[in-house]
Amino acid sequence: MKNIAILGSTGSIGTQTLEVVQSNAEELSVVALAAGTSVDLMERQIREFHPLVAAMWSEEAAADLRVRVADLPVKIVAGMEGLLEIAQMPESDVLVTAIVGMIGIRPTIAAIRAGKDIALANKETLVTAGHIIMPLAKECGVSILPVDSEHSAIFQSLNGEPRERIEKIILTASGGPFRGRTREELQHIQVEDALKHPNWSMGRKITIDSSTLVNKGLEVMEAKWLFDVELSQIQVVVHPQSIIHSAVQYVDGAIIAQLGVPDMKLPIQYALFYPDRRPMSGGRVDFFALGGITFEEPDTDTFRGLSLAYRAAAAGGSMPTVFNAANEKAVALFLDRKLSYPGITELIEDTMEHHKVILNPTVEEILAAEAESYEFIAGKVSM
Ligand code: NDP
Repeated sequence: MKNIAILGSTGSIGTQTLEVVQSNAEELSVVALAAGTSVDLMERQIREFHPLVAAMWSEEAAADLRVRVADLPVKIVAGMEGLLEIAQMPESDVLVTAIVGMIGIRPTIAAIRAGKDIALANKETLVTAGHIIMPLAKECGVSILPVDSEHSAIFQSLNGEPRERIEKIILTASGGPFRGRTREELQHIQVEDALKHPNWSMGRKITIDSSTLVNKGLEVMEAKWLFDVELSQIQVVVHPQSIIHSAVQYVDGAIIAQLGVPDMKLPIQYALFYPDRRPMSGGRVDFFALGGITFEEPDTDTFRGLSLAYRAAAAGGSMPTVFNAANEKAVALFLDRKLSYPGITELIEDTMEHHKVILNPTVEEILAAEAESYEFIAGKVSM
């Protein structure tokens, strides 16, 4: 039996992880769950999966939950202390980081120090603290198993091949719902338009990030850390059908890719059972029905999220944190209808220009760069 703890169990990745657990109940067991404020769903998850510990971000939500599940032998914890307790609990083998944002950094570090393997969905952790996380994981002998579909595809295509054999990584992108639009056309995008992804069903923030190509930019940075390659070795290729989830080109020119219908449960299950595979029901690629697949170069002039991400990654140090923090705030403002759609990347660029890079930042410096970015944005846009 493999015991898993899930940070962000009520979200898109978290609920799909629980579906994978449900389908593999003889082999997977849930020992802890954590969420932000969704008390109703957390109560249902506790009753169904019987974790030993559950966490809510706010003390009020935790207090409410404690009363609701008083009939069960589950410990309810709160805040960062709660996340850290879950990350390190002796009963767990693997921590699924399906939380959104940089809040995942400290629990991920704590889990690695406690010897837990990490099934990593929370890309913000690697984007901002990859220089801390990856060497620490190596030192502690734990695996960082990618859950993001593109990174899982690269991981599956690598299948143990040494890094020296990689010529480049081909990171595919659907291009999002606005592929082919001009800058002028992007001026009028509304929240409802941006929340419709052509191929994947995901959380709200990542759906917006996919439409701006900021998500692809974050994935480039995530890939750089996960697979220890140079930025110049990562090529983004727009592939609107999302059938090739990404690929590795080797030094002899061979390209190995992973294909499948878009379904996050596959990368989640692969991470939880690695290096084994388990049967999974669901869709299969039908090449005859598909007919063809196509490829395009990304339009980085119109979708500046990707070019800004490359700029942030090249600057390195604390700049990816600023890119990520500014994007988080900008997306929240857009979802609250306080910022226009093109305003998202404009705000990211302004915030990056205002920042002085700190090389090799500590966790405290990363969190300070995040706070500084929020402060800068608060001074520019009324919240
Ligand atoms: P969602 O917004 O759907 O879910 C986020 C989860 O995190 C929820 O359970 C939420 O709880 C919880 N959460 C938020 N804040 C806190 C907090 N302060 N303390 C504890 N829990 C908190 O996000 P996604 O599932 O879409 O994404 C999760 C991560 O996975 C992101 O980093 C994303 O980039 C990455 N990812 C997502 C993919 C997808 O298909 N969705 C694909 C690849 C990567 P609550 O419900 O209470 O708010």
